[in-house]
Amino acid sequence: MASDSFSQLKISDAQIKNLESLGYTKMTPIQAQSIPHVLKGKDLIAKAKTGSGKTAAFGVGLLNQINPRFFGVQALVLCPTRELADQVGKEIRRLARSVPNIKLVLLCGGKPFGPQVGSLEHGAHIVVGTPGRIQDHLRKNTLTLDGLKTLVLDEADRMLDMGFSEVMDDIISQTPKSRQTLLFSATYPDSIDKMSHSIQKNPISVTVESEHKTDVIEQMFYEVKKHERNNSLLAIFEHYQPETTVVFCHTKKQCDEVASFLQEHRIAALAIHGDLDQRERDQVLVRFSNNSCSVLVATDVAARGLDIKSLQAVINYELPRDPEIYVHRIGRTGRAGEKGQALSIFTASEQNRVNAIETYQKKPCRCDVYESLDRDPGFSLQPAMVTIQLDSGRKNKVRPGDILGALTGDAGLAGSDIGKIDIFDMSSYVAVERTALRQAMNYLAQGKVKGRTIRARQIR
Ligand code: AMP
Repeated sequence: MASDSFSQLKISDAQIKNLESLGYTKMTPIQAQSIPHVLKGKDLIAKAKTGSGKTAAFGVGLLNQINPRFFGVQALVLCPTRELADQVGKEIRRLARSVPNIKLVLLCGGKPFGPQVGSLEHGAHIVVGTPGRIQDHLRKNTLTLDGLKTLVLDEADRMLDMGFSEVMDDIISQTPKSRQTLLFSATYPDSIDKMSHSIQKNPISVTVESEHKTDVIEQMFYEVKKHERNNSLLAIFEHYQPETTVVFCHTKKQCDEVASFLQEHRIAALAIHGDLDQRERDQVLVRFSNNSCSVLVATDVAARGLDIKSLQAVINYELPRDPEIYVHRIGRTGRAGEKGQALSIFTASEQNRVNAIETYQKKPCRCDVYESLDRDPGFSLQPAMVTIQLDSGRKNKVRPGDILGALTGDAGLAGSDIGKIDIFDMSSYVAVERTALRQAMNYLAQGKVKGRTIRARQIR
């Protein structure tokens, strides 16, 4: 039996069948190295990124520990962002299909408190959420962790970066000492080491090489004068013409300024950073993921946990000081074997950051001047899709099929005119081809979705 086959694990046949039905034919490297230890109840510190299959690496193990007949929280997964918590929750739910009657509750900030209390009162076996909100529930005694068996810290480095250290300590202090602790982190700064020492018992350490083969990522570095950053950024767009890009900046202000600059130069860009409220953040992510925005200008923290399938380019408007962060950033392109571009702008005073990346990657960085790039000055990047927001959502029992049905049926749009549909509690978003926008809006202005007149507006 191959060493990466799920069937050699001490898990139920139903669980193995379920993994097969999910199309997981063999374990990813992080799974092969982690799951056997996790199943033995060992603590684990694992260096792995989103995309490596890390959720199943801890998910399979924690599910194995759960006693469905005991209605108390037995597993807790802490995540830095709501988006990551959503993704992790979905993946664990998929993995849990083989175990009847398992209840998972998501507890994230930016969501109303009351319904979360209601869900907890019905009994939850697994809680996935963000630290602040989980601490709130503990304070209010709407959540207790006395019966916890497994604690998972997902993207622990980011939680520390985001200032969750004390909150995490407080949460962990309310869990039994006998718990199993699984710590996942994309990078290993000293603070992670310290944390592991204080909360884990003889953890097994697992590291997998980045699954992003850096040779499918073409890396270029452009040295510029300080005042040339914007112009060089434009030159990069006009030369490489990527259709989907994340531009990384250091500060929120820089994100806003760079996004405005790109918009002024006919490149549809949106900024995403911690100052956006949850609704604005949802909208930006919806628009980026449904192809009605081509460029996201983000801070590292804001880009955390984004479920971005494949980016053609990652641009560093400014290089990070830590070369691991650089590698983490550029790993968002060149996924699934596609070629990706990692393009970085730096000034002479940041040469040491380029040197650090060379040392880290054990290969020289290719540097050039941006003036040598062939530019297409007429270049413009206006995505083919546009997003329409509808004022009805999950709470109104709207499902994607209802929206699709209304637009392709009564409104007469072709199925191919309609893109991704995202349903939130109080609103929904549908991407339509720009050429079909008017037809869709004309219908929505008078028509109905699910028998109910709704209001629709294009998001700009
Ligand atoms: P993650 O790193 O947990 O975010 O997982 C990345 C993606 O890989 C998810 O979409 C999983 O559903 C998928 N995945 C996880 N494990 C496997 C596996 N063994 N085989 C195939 N796909 C997997």
